[in-house]
Amino acid sequence: MIHMGIGYDVHQLVEERKLILGGVEIPHPKGLEGHSDADVLMHALCDAVLGTLGEQDIGHFFPNSDPRWRGAPSKVFLQEAARQVSARMGKIINVDATVIAQQPKIYHYLKEMKANIAAALGIDAAAVGIKATTNEHLGFIGREEGIAAMAVASVDLP
Ligand code: MG
Repeated sequence: MIHMGIGYDVHQLVEERKLILGGVEIPHPKGLEGHSDADVLMHALCDAVLGTLGEQDIGHFFPNSDPRWRGAPSKVFLQEAARQVSARMGKIINVDATVIAQQPKIYHYLKEMKANIAAALGIDAAAVGIKATTNEHLGFIGREEGIAAMAVASVDLP
């Protein structure tokens, strides 16, 4: 049975934080605020994978009140989501995501992001889609106050 899942996340852009997207540190004057490394792309993907299982969101598994996850690389969240799939004898078929950011352009980092996400999920990089769009200067994303990501995942469950 093919199961679908959806995920969405947003983090605020602030000074004196690294910008980590898809496990790649991207040179930028601002970075994303958050308890972990605030990798908004990996967080959306994590919720998408958990969603295929009817599970609760990333905050349930990794509460931001837990000091263990302070500054944590978000690949550990994806690894846990993949582990939940494996525990149910499932197989991740593919994931797909869109990053919504006015700046920076992420095109040159896509290959590395896909490799990082694929490694964390234990799937082929060809099964990872990442697209990017600006917000046409509209709203908080357009004002470069934050970056959002949305994602879907499909999982084959017995
Ligand atoms: Mg998040």
